[in-house]
This record gives sequence, structure tokens and C-alpha cells, in this order.
Amino acid sequence: MQKKKLATVWLGGCSGCHMSLLDIDERILDVARLADIVKSPVVDGKEMPEVDITLVEGSVTSDEHYRELIHIRKKTKVLIALGDCAVMTNVTGMRNYFNLKDVFDTAYVHAVSNDGEGQVPDHPSLLKLNEKVQPLHEVVKVDFVLPGCPPDADAIFYVLFEFLNDRVPNLSAVKKLKYG
Ligand code: SF4
Repeated sequence: MQKKKLATVWLGGCSGCHMSLLDIDERILDVARLADIVKSPVVDGKEMPEVDITLVEGSVTSDEHYRELIHIRKKTKVLIALGDCAVMTNVTGMRNYFNLKDVFDTAYVHAVSNDGEGQVPDHPSLLKLNEKVQPLHEVVKVDFVLPGCPPDADAIFYVLFEFLNDRVPNLSAVKKLKYG
């Protein structure tokens, strides 16, 4: 079987899902036999080539995430939402209950500065946060979801290994694994 190309991407998340991915430990060698990891925070690949499988951690919180996710969708055959932030926004979506200005004021003007004189950072290099955080499926077609905060390493390995062997993971088998 020809080696596949694998990418992992970190959008609006805490990196906990990538930490859980690393918890597959020595099974990373099984993954490496079947796939080249061509873009990922763990290999520092910057470009997004055409790939077979992409694991996406985190939700869409900014214009940059939105553009990146659209780009990823065009470049990947199988897009997997990795973890609750990607699947349903989870922690990152908690700000959806408030309007964005109030969130910024609370975080920077009142929390950072006790005298209420703080300033919301404004620099072109900073992310432009969207008014609402979105799960991946509201922006692009998602092929498979793997919930959990974070998903357990065994569940991540199982799902990845099945796709790398051209099989669709069995959701009931995933449920029996401990995740999150
Ligand atoms: S699902 Fe949990 S572990 Fe994964 S990015 Fe979100 S908060 Fe972090």
C-alpha cells in the first residue's frame, strides 16, 4: 500500500488534543509506517500540501481560522474533527453567550487593570476574533468526528489507524474505548 500523507492542524483549542495524540507513544511508529506527517505543530510543517487525512483540533474563532479551514478542506480527502472544541466548540464557545466587546472589556479593561483603564490590544498581527465561535461542521463538510476533551489516545490511534488502512472506523468501537 502506498504511504499516505497526514496533517494535523491546531485552530482554536488548547493543544490538549495534540497532547493526547502524542500519548499514542510508540504507536507513532505504526503511524509512521503508513503515513508521512507533512504538516503539524509537532513537525513544524508550514505549507499544506494535498493530503489524505487531516486531524483538526479546535474551533473556528477568527477570520484566520476560517480561511485556514476552507483551505484545509480543499486540500484533504478525509477531514476529522478532533475533540469537543472542533465538534461542538466546547470551552472556546463559552464566549458565545456574550457579545464580543463585553468579552474584550472583561478580559482586558477590567481584569487586567483594576482601575478600569486597561486597553484592548489592537495590532495587525493579532487574530481578528469572529463575533461567534463556530464548530468545524458549520464552516466545512466534516467526514468524521472524534469527541472528547481531549479524546483518549487509544481512540485517536484507533480512528487514525483505520483510516490509514482504508477502513472507516466503527463508531460503536470508538464508544467502547475510554475517551476524555
Ligand atoms: S477539546 Fe479539550 S483538550 Fe481539545 S482543544 Fe478543546 S479544550 Fe483542549
